[in-house]
Amino acid sequence: MNDAGRAATVPPLPESLHFIQRDWLSSNNLLCFEGENATLVDSGYVAVVDQTVALVNVGLQQHTRELVPATRGSVRLTRLINTHSHSDHIGGNAAVKRAFNCEILIPATMESMVAAWDEEAMLLGVAGQRAERFTYDGVIAVHSRFEMGGLIWQAFPAPGHDMSALVFYCAEEGLLISGDALWEDGFGILFSAFSDVPTAAADVLAVTRTTLEMISRLDLATVIPGHGPVFGDPEAALARAFGRLDAFTRDPLRLGRNAVKAGFTFNLLDMGRLEAAALPSYLASIPFFRDINRRNYGMSNTDFAAWLLREIIGSRAARVEDGWIIPSGKA
Ligand SMILES: [Zn+2]
Repeated sequence: MNDAGRAATVPPLPESLHFIQRDWLSSNNLLCFEGENATLVDSGYVAVVDQTVALVNVGLQQHTRELVPATRGSVRLTRLINTHSHSDHIGGNAAVKRAFNCEILIPATMESMVAAWDEEAMLLGVAGQRAERFTYDGVIAVHSRFEMGGLIWQAFPAPGHDMSALVFYCAEEGLLISGDALWEDGFGILFSAFSDVPTAAADVLAVTRTTLEMISRLDLATVIPGHGPVFGDPEAALARAFGRLDAFTRDPLRLGRNAVKAGFTFNLLDMGRLEAAALPSYLASIPFFRDINRRNYGMSNTDFAAWLLREIIGSRAARVEDGWIIPSGKA
């Protein structure tokens, strides 16, 4: 189905929710209004946090004008809640907290890595990504219920793309805030498959399947994903996600290839451009890429770089101009 066909099936969000779609470097943001207070879900990537703060301000002002009588003052951002631990979702936490003086709640499942600021567990330097360290004020416990945007949400564990991820489900409206556990077309890179534990890939595929099965048992009308547009027809999206998972299960080497392509495309968006001649040494300098190649493919740095360049040009994720690799803006 084309994009227009998909968009036509999306039920409108409740007016207390304000969705902000971003690109692939930054996660989407969701503003949830509760009277004169607002909650933000995910803060985006650190490189674009000024834009995030500006977009949140626009959303707050718009809501103040439309829904809160002028005499009652303005709407304030009082809470920030994260869906999971990755840099494109938590990278702006510190700056958003500074800008709005809001509290930060994180999934209880990621508390230990944030408390210790475990950059390896959070896939920061090890994957060539960045985030500003932040302090959190509380946690969202697995299976807990909480109010946001005047609606009751339940937090379900959604391991796979991130073993500490939660998704937030509103039964009353059939809404799911899915983070990167389910997109309209697939799900986020299965990063955890690339640890030192030999059985990790099979385990990660199995928990990802359990997560998708859990989501398919929910009574859903609309999904609010971490990337891409809000979508209806969750059955079709789940069918695509299961198809992708089946393909990874049949050919586990595909998992690593996908992780390298998607991970590098993200980093390229962050860097802006990279000299094609520097690609072999760049890949060798980032443990995430280097180790996937070493463990799974054993290519030379030059061959690994040549393969990756062919792949990302072929999928139109990037192009080469005057010796520079330029991202096209899509993952
Ligand atoms: Zn993401």
